[in-house]
Amino acid sequence: MKYSLITGGSRGIGRAICLKLSEMGYPVIINYAANKDAAMETKRLVEENGGTAEFMPFDVGSMEEVNNALNDWVEKHPDDYIAVLVNNAGIRKDNLMFWMSDDEWHNVLDTSLNGAFYTTRALVKYMMNKKFGRVINIVSISGVNGMAGQTNYAAAKAGVIGMTKALALEAAKKQVTVNAVAPGFIETDMTKDLNQDELKKIVPANRFGKAEEVADLVGFLASEKAGYVTGQVVAISGGL
Ligand code: NAP
Repeated sequence: MKYSLITGGSRGIGRAICLKLSEMGYPVIINYAANKDAAMETKRLVEENGGTAEFMPFDVGSMEEVNNALNDWVEKHPDDYIAVLVNNAGIRKDNLMFWMSDDEWHNVLDTSLNGAFYTTRALVKYMMNKKFGRVINIVSISGVNGMAGQTNYAAAKAGVIGMTKALALEAAKKQVTVNAVAPGFIETDMTKDLNQDELKKIVPANRFGKAEEVADLVGFLASEKAGYVTGQVVAISGGL
C-alpha cells in the first residue's frame, strides 16, 4: 500500500493537503508538533470523507525524533511505503536582521530547511527502490524574491528550493519527482496577524489565497499525471 505523509498536517495548508491526498485514495499520516486537538480534527475530516488517517507527531527539526518515528513506521509496515511526502511544516519568526536573535534564526531554519532534509533523507530511498515517489516541498514567494523582515524565513525557503532542484536530478531516473510549491499570502493561522485589507492591495488578484487552492496544486504534483514535472518551483500567489 502506498501512503502519504504530510508534515504539519494538523492545521492550515497541511490540513487541506491531507484532505486532498485522502480524496485521491492515499491513506494519510498526519505529522504535527504539539497541537493534538487540531490533528484530531484533521483526522476526523479525513474519515468523514471516507479516507483513513493516522498520527505521527514529531518535531521535524529534531533528527532523532524524525528518524525514530519513521524507522518505527517502516518496521511496522514491511509491505507498505510512503510514496508521497509533503514537507509542509513551517514557522515564521519575523524580525529585521540587526534585531534577529540566534533562536529566531535557528528555529526557522531547523523547522523548514533541516526538517525537510531529515524527512526526505529517511524516505526517498524507499521511493527510489519502488520506482515511484513524489516529494513536494512547501516553500514561499519569500524564498524566491526575499521579503523584508524575513531573512531567516527567506533563507530557509531558498535553501529548500536548492535542495528540491538538486534532489530532482538524483531521483528522476527512478520515477521519483521532487518539486516545490511557493505560496504567496494564504489565509491560515500563520497569516492571521497580518493586515489582510492592506496587504491584498499588493496582490494582483486582490485577495489572499485559500489553503484548498494550494492543496489542489499539490494534488496535481502528487498525481501520476505529473510524472514529467520535476525540479520545479510552482508559485501560487495570485500574481504576486
Ligand atoms: P500554520 O497554519 O501556522 O500551520 C503550521 C503547521 O506546521 C502546523 O500543523 C504545525 O503543527 C506544524 N509545525 C510547526 N512547526 C513544526 C515542527 N517543528 N514539527 C512538526 N510540525 C510543525 O501554517 P500554514 O500557513 O498552513 O503554513 C504551511 C506551510 O506553508 C509552511 O511551510 C509555511 O511556511 C508555508 N507558507 C505559508 C504561507 C501563508 O501565507 N500561510 C505562505 C507561504 C508559505 P502544530 O499544529 O502542532 O503546531
